[in-house]
Amino acid sequence: MRNFTNSKRIAIKIGTNTLSRAGKVDSAYIRSIAAQVAELIKAGRQAVLISSGAIGMGAGRIGLLEAAADIKTRQALAAIGQPLLMTEYRKAFDKLGLACGQVLLTAEVLSNRKTYLNLKNAIETLLTLGVVPILNENDCVSTAEIGTAFGDNDKLSALVASKLDADVLIILSDIDCLYDKDPRKFPDAKPVKAVYEITDEILKSAGAAGSKFSTGGMKTKIAAAQIAANAGCRIVLANGRTKNVITKIIAGSDLGTVFMPRRKLCNRLRWLLNSAPAGTITIDDGAAAAIRKKKSLLPKGIKSISGNFRPGDVVMLNSVAKAVCNFSSDELAAIIGRHSSEIKAILGSGKKDVVATPENIVFLDY
Ligand code: GLU
Repeated sequence: MRNFTNSKRIAIKIGTNTLSRAGKVDSAYIRSIAAQVAELIKAGRQAVLISSGAIGMGAGRIGLLEAAADIKTRQALAAIGQPLLMTEYRKAFDKLGLACGQVLLTAEVLSNRKTYLNLKNAIETLLTLGVVPILNENDCVSTAEIGTAFGDNDKLSALVASKLDADVLIILSDIDCLYDKDPRKFPDAKPVKAVYEITDEILKSAGAAGSKFSTGGMKTKIAAAQIAANAGCRIVLANGRTKNVITKIIAGSDLGTVFMPRRKLCNRLRWLLNSAPAGTITIDDGAAAAIRKKKSLLPKGIKSISGNFRPGDVVMLNSVAKAVCNFSSDELAAIIGRHSSEIKAILGSGKKDVVATPENIVFLDY
């Protein structure tokens, strides 16, 4: 469970509150992280850092410590803070004879197959060169409004860990571990050392977000664990301020909470599972049962559709599965409830004869 001897690729996510003190980067802390990363590399492992802190550093730099910043201001703060953050990492790694590289990304970059492959190639090359990739969201250009944001770096780190086939993702924050109930309300709350299944109870008990400049909290960490669980990647949540926390975790100490993987989906299904759907297809019970048995989705089983999508877009099937749809929403509207043999007559030739094939359908549960 806690044996990481064979874990080669390690993703480490560090939260804003962990790496800052009074609105400034805590340089000594960054140096300690860099030293532990250097140890991993020396031991033949690879490390990818996902670092928050740009917005917090930007706010500290211009003395904006109190105001709950609006989106535009947060974007501006990220532009100020990101280079400050990277300067600290660069200085720390320089001293250890290691180079680091900055990779900024948006949710769009990860869901588009071409840009995702570019990103993967760049990160793989950095790792081959022995350089430490340091990732963050490109906050200046990604906002939830235009649908390009991850929303929080917990999710980003889980997606990155999943896409890069990391063996373990360590999420460092000011949270010690998962408790069996909210420790702020119940003094008898007990730490949970290992989670094998993310139950509804766990989801319900996860509290909300942290400080004004960080977006996380237990909720986003559990969501991250769900993403990583489908990639066969273990997640360890731990308090980032524990001395030599990374070294201790990788050595097998039982700090924090470990989330065990659920299933290792192939890359394509992971991409499908983690993509934002462009619409929803509501299907009848017969079709729902058929796709569970690994049959294709046919137009006959469709009750209604919502959203505007193109052929090849990802859609939800009820609220249980995601699929790559062979038709646009307009085309689908024309063939709802019809037999597959009628598709050609209605839409013309050259069209597929099923709405989605089994290898393009993934269930949110299993
Ligand atoms: N990308 C944000 C930053 O660097 C942090 C988002 C988060 O708190 O998860 O400030």
